[in-house]
Amino acid sequence: MREDLLSELDREYEQRRFANEQTEMDRRKTIQTRFPEIEQLVLQRENLIHGTIRQMLAGNANGQDLPERMQEVNQKIREALCRAGLPEDYLSPVYTCPICRDTGYVGEPVREPCSCLKEAYSRKLRESIGLTGDRKESFEHFDEQLIPDSVLPDIGITQRKLAIMARDACARWAEAWPDAGYRDVLINGESGLGKTFLIRAMADRLISRGKQVLVISAYQFVQLARKSFFESDDSMDELMNVPVLMIDDLGSEPMMKSITVEQMFNLLNERQESSRSTVISTNLTLKELRERYTERIVSRLNNPHTCLMITLAGQDLRTIER
Ligand SMILES: [Zn+2]
Repeated sequence: MREDLLSELDREYEQRRFANEQTEMDRRKTIQTRFPEIEQLVLQRENLIHGTIRQMLAGNANGQDLPERMQEVNQKIREALCRAGLPEDYLSPVYTCPICRDTGYVGEPVREPCSCLKEAYSRKLRESIGLTGDRKESFEHFDEQLIPDSVLPDIGITQRKLAIMARDACARWAEAWPDAGYRDVLINGESGLGKTFLIRAMADRLISRGKQVLVISAYQFVQLARKSFFESDDSMDELMNVPVLMIDDLGSEPMMKSITVEQMFNLLNERQESSRSTVISTNLTLKELRERYTERIVSRLNNPHTCLMITLAGQDLRTIER
């Protein structure tokens, strides 16, 4: 688990506990000011507990009847709350997660992360690498029924079959990485054929295997490249160093020729020289990529020995009426 995310979560859990304590105090105040009858019962319960403890310490009682008497007064409190039109747990401790009582951990003496913390961590991890919080974009959610089963004349197989082949190749790559046989992946196809889905599903598979990934859009790439160029800061460092970098929708970004091309070349070059993987999706053909990004860059990708080439074709899935 990543330390930076865990300390962020620690702070969030602390805020959560604080907010819940505030709610408890506000509720108690409401009872004190507006429901004196219930307040009397609450005080009676407190006296019962404190009184019994005092007597036990003095050796005058063994506290055996305490649970029964507590149950009685609790029942009276619940009934009074209901009569007042309030929920019967109105005065109970407020927990967002009753399992760990908002500590994030369970178990004694071995402390383990609560399921709520694991879930929050996974959401945060996904967001930190450019994915959405939920896991809709994963191979498990690939629905071939949404893809037309009509033959693509140029290719000779159906759009669905082509998409399934692409899914399988991408899933195999993400499952086997870094021993996937190909260092890089280039996913090509027009808009609306599922390129982004494949990229995100690959990232999902990699992070569930504990691998480090970063997903950015080509637009975000240009923004970082420009920032790094004009401000000479380290905004490109993470892009250079992350073991798997995924750039979605290359070709959709605004072009600043001297900066974008140069930075893209440096990025790909440095990543390839240090054997890091880059996954790119684009709606441009190789010819269009060459025109936009020069042969120097395209030749970095267009290598059948090091780059897995995936092509999608057919009808825009977003325009299909269901
Ligand atoms: Zn919990």
